[in-house]
Amino acid sequence: AGEPIQYIAGHAWFYGNKLKVSPAVLIPRPETEELVHWVLEDLKTSDIKEISILDIGTGSGCIPVILKKQLGNRIRIVGIDISPEALSIARENASLYGVNIEFIEKDFLKQGTNGLGKFDVIISNPPYISKSLAGEEIINDLKYEPSTALYPDQDDPDIFYKKIAELTKDSFHRNSICYLEMNEFRADEIRTYFIDSGWSDVKTRKDLQGKERMLKA
Ligand code: GLN
Repeated sequence: AGEPIQYIAGHAWFYGNKLKVSPAVLIPRPETEELVHWVLEDLKTSDIKEISILDIGTGSGCIPVILKKQLGNRIRIVGIDISPEALSIARENASLYGVNIEFIEKDFLKQGTNGLGKFDVIISNPPYISKSLAGEEIINDLKYEPSTALYPDQDDPDIFYKKIAELTKDSFHRNSICYLEMNEFRADEIRTYFIDSGWSDVKTRKDLQGKERMLKA
């Protein structure tokens, strides 16, 4: 009936690891594995001793769990999400792998990163699908997944990117890095928000399907 097998099984595979999922969380996607891979490529060779990382819209916790598992005590990592139900799955995934991650309930669009401290790295796979642009077929394919994880407020597919580019400045150190998954049709606009907000070295990367899917700044 189109119900994702991961919800029926109660788990999904992500970066070689089995994670718990429920309909409260987006099923982790291969393109997000590629984003995690990019971060790991960079951080594994970085000589910073203690790296603080923020994951905005953590969902199942797939991003912080893998990063913490791979990088261990070199990193301190915080995952925020608007959904308490998602955070409870994320906490279960962290305890499944015995990794220490701080999960905090927060409405990023309203509250920004207030009170979270400063970070060297910000990562996010925010909701980026516009209902009016996506069309019925895609919306139907995604109907079992939480709409807060897929469709941003006010149907603006860029809203999270605009806020991340502007709002997080106070939460960054001078040489901090931001890694984002994005809507492949919005890559030019998203790149522009970052450049206009004063970010440098803005790069995008295609996913394995050849879609402009990731941004680093
Ligand atoms: N990549 C997902 C999809 O196309 C969407 C994830 C998201 O909105 N962050 O189904």
